[in-house]
Amino acid sequence: SLAFFNGEFLPTESVVIPIDERGHQFGDGVYEVIKVYDGKPFLMREHLVRLENSAKAIRLEMPYSVEQLEDLIHEGLTRAELRDAQVYLQITRGIAVRLHAFPDAPPSVSMTFRPSKSLTEEVFNAGVKVALLDDERWLNCYIKSLNLLPNVLAKQTAADRGCFEAVLVRDGYVTEGSSTNAYAVKDGVVYTHPANKRILHGITRAAVLQVAAELGIEVREELYTPEFLLNADEAFLTSTTAEVLAITQVDDTVIGTGKPGPIVRKLHAKFRELIG
Ligand code: PMP
Repeated sequence: SLAFFNGEFLPTESVVIPIDERGHQFGDGVYEVIKVYDGKPFLMREHLVRLENSAKAIRLEMPYSVEQLEDLIHEGLTRAELRDAQVYLQITRGIAVRLHAFPDAPPSVSMTFRPSKSLTEEVFNAGVKVALLDDERWLNCYIKSLNLLPNVLAKQTAADRGCFEAVLVRDGYVTEGSSTNAYAVKDGVVYTHPANKRILHGITRAAVLQVAAELGIEVREELYTPEFLLNADEAFLTSTTAEVLAITQVDDTVIGTGKPGPIVRKLHAKFRELIG
């Protein structure tokens, strides 16, 4: 597969990142994942604007404009000859001898271009099981930071329990998944955690809230408890790679009928129309 590192497109296997790279040593950087459907990077502008916001939040100056990044992504996709792809893009505080304070170094930019790993229609039709776990992350979860250790640990604990995802709980309320946003549906109303500092402001989340408005489905961006989720009629996750994915079981509790419900199915179908 193809990669980009600090100005050059190279085969992924041949890129070597210097040991004193701050992404490597400190996780000192931010990232995005963009899905490409039939040659078109989906919601690319939105992802790149979020990247700019994440960079600003960690006081990292973006080495490229959104337009320049769009051009680089298109160039990478052309070079990689990929139509259905996932683009990973990260920006770090660069290469410098390991000291915590900011170095006097230009940021590093890396990207990979890989065939997309979409979930199968069987998974969408069946829905997934999730595990409720403590949200042990920091207080700035709106920043798409490279520091994913709590997310990695939560995802692995969920996987160890045979679950697709960990749904996280902080101070008695459901925040989001380890790599997804989370929703509960009760009496036809969709509930999801408000877009504050405790969750990542998902690009898919924003698109799905738009889709819900178009469908006349009421959404409340409100706190809800794990108990509320367990008693929901439907529940679902959203992310760039998982799109709109029904939760049919939370730990030992079956949600609704145990199958993706009507609201999840409507939202996913309408979301897919956006992909076009
Ligand atoms: N929350 C977290 C913690 C994530 O890592 C992700 C995936 N980037 C999401 C939510 C979903 O965000 P998006 O829809 O932008 O992919």
